[in-house]
Amino acid sequence: MPARDQRPIETKLGPWITRPLELVHPDVMPFWEGVGKHEFRLCHCKRCGAFYWPFTVCINHADIPDFDEMEWVPVSGRGKIFSYLVVHQVHDPDFRAEVPYGVAMVELDEGPLFPGRIVDSDPYQVKIGTPLEVVYLDVPEAGHTLPFFRPVQESGSPLTTRERSGEHTLRKSHGAE
Ligand SMILES: [Zn+2]
Repeated sequence: MPARDQRPIETKLGPWITRPLELVHPDVMPFWEGVGKHEFRLCHCKRCGAFYWPFTVCINHADIPDFDEMEWVPVSGRGKIFSYLVVHQVHDPDFRAEVPYGVAMVELDEGPLFPGRIVDSDPYQVKIGTPLEVVYLDVPEAGHTLPFFRPVQESGSPLTTRERSGEHTLRKSHGAE
């Protein structure tokens, strides 16, 4: 598993981050307990190894649906953009400082689709297939941790996606000289 990018989140986030996680279903609590330890967990079938999000029984053994066969295990927290949208409207004043921002359906490396907010990038520069990795924001005043996704940095370079694409253009023009 590649080393996780430990940089803090640079995207400005609104006061909504302190709102309590009031809609967490007990079946999904192991996921949030993992997030609190900066550990990304998926539901995993002990019999065949398939991964799921959220908690469910394995569809590969529909003859004997058995919750006891399922467990939560730590996974990579990496994936790529399966689909995304850019939010422009301020439907809630707590998000005002953040628009426009990207929300993605992330196709995790282990297979399941996971909805997540994209941070630390220009939302117009990402595209379907852009590699993402999870990044955690501890919110001590609320007593919880929130998971976000940001584009994977290839070499620890601090360049943004836009700057990287500009760098490629520059190299091309040098090569043509
Ligand atoms: Zn299975």
